[in-house]
Amino acid sequence: MAGNICNASPAADGVPPLLALGAEVELASTGGRRRVALADYITGVRRTVRLPDELVVAVHVPHPPEGARGAFVKLGSRSSLVISIAMVAAVVRSDAGRIIEARVAVGACSPVARRLTDWETALAGCELSELESLRPDPAAHLSALAPIDDARATAAYRLSAVRELCLRAVRQAAAAREIMDVC
Ligand SMILES: Cc1cc2nc3c(=O)[nH]c(=O)nc-3n(C[C@H](O)[C@H](O)[C@H](O)COP(=O)(O)OP(=O)(O)OC[C@H]3O[C@@H](n4cnc5c(N)ncnc54)[C@H](O)[C@@H]3O)c2cc1C
Repeated sequence: MAGNICNASPAADGVPPLLALGAEVELASTGGRRRVALADYITGVRRTVRLPDELVVAVHVPHPPEGARGAFVKLGSRSSLVISIAMVAAVVRSDAGRIIEARVAVGACSPVARRLTDWETALAGCELSELESLRPDPAAHLSALAPIDDARATAAYRLSAVRELCLRAVRQAAAAREIMDVC
């Protein structure tokens, strides 16, 4: 995980799940230790706030809210061993078919993976059965993203795909909750 975070690639698969979980990075040097929210740790493509004499010595993941479940959905040009075209992580707390709280982070669609806070706000209180109609709107909910054209996909394809991946990630996280309830 430390290597994945320090690489600071836009396509680092470890970053969106840790962002959705609200992780913090602990850095240490001979000068002392400090903790930085992962959201502030990666500042650009291959850029972090880590100083040359610092090592990542821990990644702190707070307990998710009671009853919350997570999911990670990755799109690549094949099913395994592939750099992501886009990926989405979701942590969802739901009850009786209604979303109480959702955290959603998207990778490979901006220089740094991003939480979709506007969409998260729109999801709170919604029925899971209405999810299809809550597909994120590019202007209203995806303005934090800035996908590019590259060898793997066009920006337009990424944006289109991520709207579906978001729905799948939230649905899978909520379904994990239902399975746990049955067990
Ligand atoms: C063929 C190929 C396919 C890949 N596919 C994927 C993929 O699908 N998804 C994905 O996310 N990544 C992928 N990667 C990128 C890479 O393998 C991952 O990012 C991996 O998680 C890096 O972890 P590592 O432990 O190997 O780090 P390393 O390669 O050992 O380190 C990466 C960088 O972080 C620094 N570093 C490592 N640990 C620390 C630390 N504790 N403190 C400070 N600096 C540190 C190193 O000095 C180095 O600069 C791929 C790479 C290759 C070559």
